[in-house]
Amino acid sequence: MTDLFSDDHARALDDADPLRSFRDEFLIPRHGGAEQAYFCGNSLGLQPRGARAHVDEVLDKWATEAVEGHFTGQAQWMPYHELVRDSLAAVVGAQPSEVVAMNSLTANLHLLMVSFYQPTIERTAILIEAGSFPSDRYAVESQLKYRGLPPEHTLIEVQPDNTDGTFSMAAIERAIRENGKRLALVLWPGVQYRTGQAFDLKEIARITHDVGAIAGFDLAHAVGNLPLQLHDSGADFAVWCHYKYMNSGPGAVAGAFVHERHARTDRPRFAGWWGHEQSTRFRMGPDFVPTPGADGWQLSNPPILGLAPLRASLDLFARAGMDALRLKSERLTGYLESLIRARLSETLQIVTPTDPAQRGCQLSLRVTGGREQGRALFEHLGAQGIVGDWREPDVIRISPTPLYNTHADVLRFAQAVEHWQDANP
Ligand SMILES: *Cc1c(COP(=O)(O)O)cnc(C)c1O
Repeated sequence: MTDLFSDDHARALDDADPLRSFRDEFLIPRHGGAEQAYFCGNSLGLQPRGARAHVDEVLDKWATEAVEGHFTGQAQWMPYHELVRDSLAAVVGAQPSEVVAMNSLTANLHLLMVSFYQPTIERTAILIEAGSFPSDRYAVESQLKYRGLPPEHTLIEVQPDNTDGTFSMAAIERAIRENGKRLALVLWPGVQYRTGQAFDLKEIARITHDVGAIAGFDLAHAVGNLPLQLHDSGADFAVWCHYKYMNSGPGAVAGAFVHERHARTDRPRFAGWWGHEQSTRFRMGPDFVPTPGADGWQLSNPPILGLAPLRASLDLFARAGMDALRLKSERLTGYLESLIRARLSETLQIVTPTDPAQRGCQLSLRVTGGREQGRALFEHLGAQGIVGDWREPDVIRISPTPLYNTHADVLRFAQAVEHWQDANP
């Protein structure tokens, strides 16, 4: 029998990994003399080596060309966001005109709710998951208040029906149908940040449209983690950030999707000059004429320095391919799961669904014994350069990412937990 916990076994799995060379494309932080086992791509992805050259290119262009940089030479700033459009569309499964890199996630959520949350006398409510990411809840609640609607009556938070805090599709469907007549918008995550549960976006969009509401998705933990088919899902809009699994750096410029069926919508929007029809934008006329597609929601000329690292990241995604990444991701996370089941289940309870179709790379692990034990284990891991993240009161999130993590990293985590378990029986 193969010993799951042997270094040879992990090494053999890594040797057989067709994507193993991608790790060399990243700067791996060190701890003591050794590389960290970094499992925090769900929070901040590592720096692609190629990022610096793209940032330097912008700085050099600014130094040597100044204002001319908008219109001359390589990687001109005027159409700079178009440099990322096609590869971004490929990552999220959209048509190029349906995606745009702009602003931050929460800003994009507000901008798209301004257009896609249009309460009527009958339909005022927004439905979200209970325990949603705070920024999303703040954004939704403030949109309701902004429209003069009391959130106590118009914000519907669906409670998870499983004891581990996850949702069955039946519970989501029931909540949408029961509230169907009063729903204006369903805003749901692609992957829930706390539990790591992944959802069937197409099915949620179908049920939402069935009751006559708009379907919007927050893909912060899904993009770059799962292969997405946003266009085919039928979603009306989606938003995400690029600093998590997209590895584009702290506060990186975010992303937004608007389905083609809304490309020429006359819904209201908060407008800025960069969303104006391109051929006439610089006539500087007084009337706003939106450019068709997702580009029409842009407000400002984009922060070029903030966009530059995204080019390096998208290049890696294009070379590796989302399907190959997903295959490796299922293996890596599956290996983590088997190690935990084999010897660590006294200490760690897996909160994330075991069905691979209902999760991305992340496993949320509840530590037996509560907060104090959990913090002690978390610190034990950190002291050995094993970096996960902590969610109150007792959960450690471990996210092995297929671009830069190895089976050896995963084994290092499991061995460290086993040592701690042996020392703290
Ligand atoms: C990471 C994350 C955010 C962060 O919002 P920013 O506007 O990028 O700061 C918001 N929502 C969800 C669900 C997230 O996971």
